[in-house]
Formats: sequence, structure tokens, C-alpha cells
Amino acid sequence: MTSAAASETPAAPDAGTRAPGTGAAITWQDEVSRDLLNLGGRLALFVRGEGSHVWDADGVRYLDFLGGIAVNALGHAHPAFVAAVTSQAATLAHVSNYFATPPQLELAARLKRLAGAGENGHVFFANSGSEANETAIKLARLHGRATGKRTIVSLHGAFHGRTMGSLSLTPKAAYQDPFRPLLPEVVHIAATLEALEDAIDDTVAALFVEPIQGEAGVVPLPDGFLRRARELTSAHGALLVVDEVQTGVGRTGEWFAFQREGIVPDAMTLAKGIAGGFPLGALVTFGDADVFYPGTHNSTFGGNPLATAVGNAVLAEIESSDLLANVTERGAQLRHAVEGLPLVTGTRGSGLLIGITLLSPVAAEVRDAAQRRGLIVNAPTADVIRLAPAYTIGDAEIDEFTTLFAAALDEVATHAKEDA
Ligand code: PLP
Repeated sequence: MTSAAASETPAAPDAGTRAPGTGAAITWQDEVSRDLLNLGGRLALFVRGEGSHVWDADGVRYLDFLGGIAVNALGHAHPAFVAAVTSQAATLAHVSNYFATPPQLELAARLKRLAGAGENGHVFFANSGSEANETAIKLARLHGRATGKRTIVSLHGAFHGRTMGSLSLTPKAAYQDPFRPLLPEVVHIAATLEALEDAIDDTVAALFVEPIQGEAGVVPLPDGFLRRARELTSAHGALLVVDEVQTGVGRTGEWFAFQREGIVPDAMTLAKGIAGGFPLGALVTFGDADVFYPGTHNSTFGGNPLATAVGNAVLAEIESSDLLANVTERGAQLRHAVEGLPLVTGTRGSGLLIGITLLSPVAAEVRDAAQRRGLIVNAPTADVIRLAPAYTIGDAEIDEFTTLFAAALDEVATHAKEDA
């Protein structure tokens, strides 16, 4: 690590461990290869976090502008998060889906209110975004069963998850091809108004859309797409499902990104920021869209009192500290701060979900150069850097980010010139 400031040095967890028979120290990277599935990632070994910073096992401090991929809405170890985890863990952590609990009922009512789901809206709690989308796929199947509709439509560039159903709606060859056959009767269309007009007809059970495609490089839907999608799905009796796993619970400066478009979907899926780092997902149904009945779905862990108490604490903190306004303001400030930096051609996204587009496909180099300087960002595509920092960031974090990011871009731009 180079210039990141170290403040405190937690002991490396396996300092002193020796590989049997060799005398050589086992590194954490060795342990990753030995003990975890070989799925990539694991770019550092983090041991502690506070606010917008995390520390690795060597005591090196990093500015975290990825936020656990748009999860740590309040940053790390926020007092409201810590209090909710500790007090609920000491009260009642889990009872299973056979029973209701007060935190679960409170969070369901809160989500319905914030989303405008209406009196007949309902909430199902899951444990991840993929699982929330599985639930939405089953909703589409049940809806289609009643009305004879079977097709599910999703968009090119979509990311709805890695489980078999959500993967079927995620048309990326590298993710899908090793796992075929996938769900039948899923159609992928371009994110254009023309493709939408062609695709939505009386055979369609549901259309799944992300208001901003985060994994595709923070790509917003074209203007008017969501409104036209609402009109067409309503006209043809299909469900409009918005996947707000990445954009939801304040990330874009609205509680939910669809609200900016003045539409009401039939269902919305959530996860990531909803409990600020505690695993929780949700499906929210609007109006009369809920057609589940006993026996058709459930989850042992889903909506347990521990996860939902944390969800309540996170959403209450966002509300009471007016963090949505901070998301909007800091997002604009950040976008302005990166304009004109080397290699940067523009920005897109909304609030604190920001894609920084680069002149050439060097996003992975920029990410690595940033990490060497103590800044965490990510590269969802070859020429885009994604930022998804905590909603609580202020001037100090933005200044620190700008300095580190500019230095990382300079390094990569200089190498690019030398190589040319
Ligand atoms: N949907 C969207 C829009 C996502 O961004 C993601 C994850 O990045 C998912 C679904 C899957 O969520 P999870 O990784 O929690 O299963």
C-alpha cells in the first residue's frame, strides 16, 4: 500500500500461521484459495470500518466509495445500526416465518408508506436481491396462471441476480451460458421505446426493469421508458416489476427511483441498502397485484426480527436526518468534482449512484490504482467507474475522494501515454 494513512493497526488474523511442513507463513490470499469457492474478487482483507472508512489487516485506512456495492447507506458502524443490532439481538433474533414479530410489521408498514403501495399493498421479506426477484418471478407466474400469460420480459444489460430464476432475467452470456437450461419463455429486449412497443402484448405476464442499470455501468433508462412501460403493461394486463435492489431506499435521492417518473408499479424488489449492511431483501406489491396464497412461497430467515429491526433503524435514520437531501446535494457535488479530471469523459446516474465514464477501457487499472492509494471504487464495465458511497458523506469525504481519484487517474493516464 502506498499513501493511505494508517491510524491503528489491528492484528492480522492469521499472523504466525504456518503452512504445514513448509515453515512458510500462510497469507490471507492462500486462505482464500484454500477455503473459498474460486469466484474472483477478494481484493483486500478488511477488518474494521467506521463512517466512510475501512481498515485492512495491516492497519491501512481506505476511503470506501463503493459502500459494499451500494449497501452501507449509513456507512460503517453507524450508531443507529449498532444500537439496532445489539438491542434486537439481545431481545429476539429469530422465530421463523411461522410467527410474526413487531419489527417485521413495523418495517412492512413503513415500506408501504414510503413506496405508496396503497392499502392493499403487501410486503414479503427475503434475504437478498436475487431472492426478492425470485419472489417477483413467482408473482409473475401466479399472475400469468390466472390470466393465461407466460412470457417474462427483461432488458439487455439487466442484472437481476445469480439464482436460476433471476439469472434467467440477466442476459449476459458469461453468467448464463454455463447454467443452461434457464427458465423458459423469458424474452430480452433492447432498452428502447421501439423494442418496448413491440414486446409488450397480451402474452406477457411481467416486465422487469431497473430504473438505472447499475451493473451495466450505471445506465439510466431512456426518457419516458418507464412511463410508456406502465401504459403498455397496464393496457395488456402485464405486471410492471421495478427492480430497485440497487436504486432503492434513497440511493438516487428519492426513496425509490420510480417515484421520479410519476408512475406506480405493480411490484418492486429491494435489498442492498434496506438494512444498511444486514442481509435483507423485500418484495413490495402495489394495489391489488398480490396474488400469493398460503403455501406458494416463504423463507425461514426472511424478515426475521433482527434483520427487520435493523431495516427500521436504517430507514428511520434516513428520514430523521434528511439524508435524501444530502444524497442529492453530495451527488451533484461529486459529479462536478470529477468533471475535467484526466481520462473522464462524463458522469451518469442519480444521487449517490454515479457512473464515471472513461476515455478508454482502463476502468480496472483506475480501480486498482485507486485502491493502492487507499480509495475503494469499482469497475462494473471496462470503461466505467462506479461510486456508491454512504448517504452521510460530506465535504471532507468528497475532498479526500477527489484528491485520491485524481491521482489514480493521473497514474493511469501517464502509463497510457508511455505505452502509446
Ligand atoms: N438486482 C439488482 C438491480 C442488483 O444490482 C443486484 C445485485 O447487484 C441484484 C438484483 C442481486 O442482488 P443480490 O446480490 O443481493 O442477490
